[in-house]
Amino acid sequence: MSILAKFKLLPEVTEFLKGSPFTGLVAGKNAPATGGALIATHDPGSGEKIADIHDMTAADVDRAVNAANAAFPAWSALPQKERGAILLRLADAVEARKKVIAQIEALEAGKIEAQAQGDVQNFVDTMRYFVKLAEGVQLRTKLDVAGHEAYTCKQPWGACGFIFPWNFPFLLIGWGISPALAAGNTVVIKPAEDTSLSAIYLARLALEAGVPAGVINVVTGRGQCAGAALSANPRIKRMSFTGSPEVGRLVAEACGRNLVPVKLELGGKGAAVVFDDVDVDSVADKLVGAITFHTGQVCCDATRWLVHSRIHDRFLARCKEKLAQVRIGHPLDPDTQMGPVVNPRQKARVLGYQEKGQATGAKCVFGGGPATVEGLDGNYVKPALLSGSLDNVAAREEIFGPVAYIATFDTEEQALRMANDTDYGLANSVWTGDKARAARMAEAMEAGNSWINAHNVFPHGVPYGGVKKSGLGGGVLSPEVLMDYYRSVSVVRPLA
Ligand code: NAD
Repeated sequence: MSILAKFKLLPEVTEFLKGSPFTGLVAGKNAPATGGALIATHDPGSGEKIADIHDMTAADVDRAVNAANAAFPAWSALPQKERGAILLRLADAVEARKKVIAQIEALEAGKIEAQAQGDVQNFVDTMRYFVKLAEGVQLRTKLDVAGHEAYTCKQPWGACGFIFPWNFPFLLIGWGISPALAAGNTVVIKPAEDTSLSAIYLARLALEAGVPAGVINVVTGRGQCAGAALSANPRIKRMSFTGSPEVGRLVAEACGRNLVPVKLELGGKGAAVVFDDVDVDSVADKLVGAITFHTGQVCCDATRWLVHSRIHDRFLARCKEKLAQVRIGHPLDPDTQMGPVVNPRQKARVLGYQEKGQATGAKCVFGGGPATVEGLDGNYVKPALLSGSLDNVAAREEIFGPVAYIATFDTEEQALRMANDTDYGLANSVWTGDKARAARMAEAMEAGNSWINAHNVFPHGVPYGGVKKSGLGGGVLSPEVLMDYYRSVSVVRPLA
């Protein structure tokens, strides 16, 4: 039985999928790829093809950037209140279609439906947050300068490019484009090959909600072609990339050649440092929740669990107990607690790291290997816990699956050294009842984000970003990123 028949899809989703093959959207119109090449999109939970998308070329991307630049003067000239009202209408429209978008996302990204609904709501909240924030931005600031009348004024940049990964397709679009649009910029979005449908849905919905044509453009296709063309386009005024450090480097190089400012939000290999004064079972439960959340395909996940030696055995026992209870299944099955990984390549990567790690000295203390879900040929893996030296490849490189690496420590100094001994610097957490120690560790861990007695915390207003191999150019979700989407003009008149 087809997946579309096995799980009840919403009528709107069935209708939407009938629109395959899907094109990008440029200047408010469907934009087929020159030459008409297609890429198939599959349901990660069953392996079934759900749609084709157009594989756009460099010339197609060029047209999208031109469309975004053409739409910029009118969009940026709108009074802030008016632009905000249009974006709030889009947020309302997205909220009204939350279940539809979430089901599309569950089908293409393998995301559990309830979690996908949370992601869509997060998009809505993010857009509302930045609209409100932009209303309060002081666009002119008088400068107190001897002998001169002087002020700075803020202007939006123009057409901004965004390249996104497949793990949080819709939520990340919200985090990326909301500040840019609220500040008066126009955007070109390049979603990941596997997860373009929700971006296409959004661009169509934006037109219905009254966002002028050309303000939100979507280019679909392969990273090496459409993505590379977008990052190398000299008429892009600002670039934002979310994805792997390897591709981030290529994007930064391309932008560097054009001297286009670029923001990189990259991968991670976060630590959770667990001291011996915690409620061991409760922390174990939360970390099991974190590593299985979206099947471990989360950039800021806690993938290195550094546990005080005194509580290690109890901690490990509880983790095993909880992991054994995780129900693996299709994302649309309401009983599922952990879905598939996004594609067969990602499955091979996750299993490959388990093999490489064990071949070079790590011990598998729980689970691992492929998982089977009856009647479904999806990309399922079992959660795994490895342990051993932190020099192991599985402890050093980003796996992007439900695999945690456990090591023990005895002192705070040792824990800090272990947490910081990584090329990445995205997010870590410290778990302790001692507030002073928590603050010391949180401030000394070399990453963009330190969480205390929690992991994966993203309130609007707190900058989220990475350092080292995890990112460049500041965080998102905060006033800082809104200001990134204005350029500053210094206006000076000598008084003498
Ligand atoms: P990826 O780097 O392979 O792809 C990301 C995007 O880049 C896709 O749209 C892809 O088509 C495009 N791309 C590929 N080659 C390109 C090229 N040569 N030029 C321009 N664009 C190109 O990443 P992925 O596998 O889709 O996502 C997983 C990675 O994303 C992980 O490393 C994860 O940690 C990271 N990530 C980071 C954050 C964050 O906020 N820091 C959030 C989510 C994911």
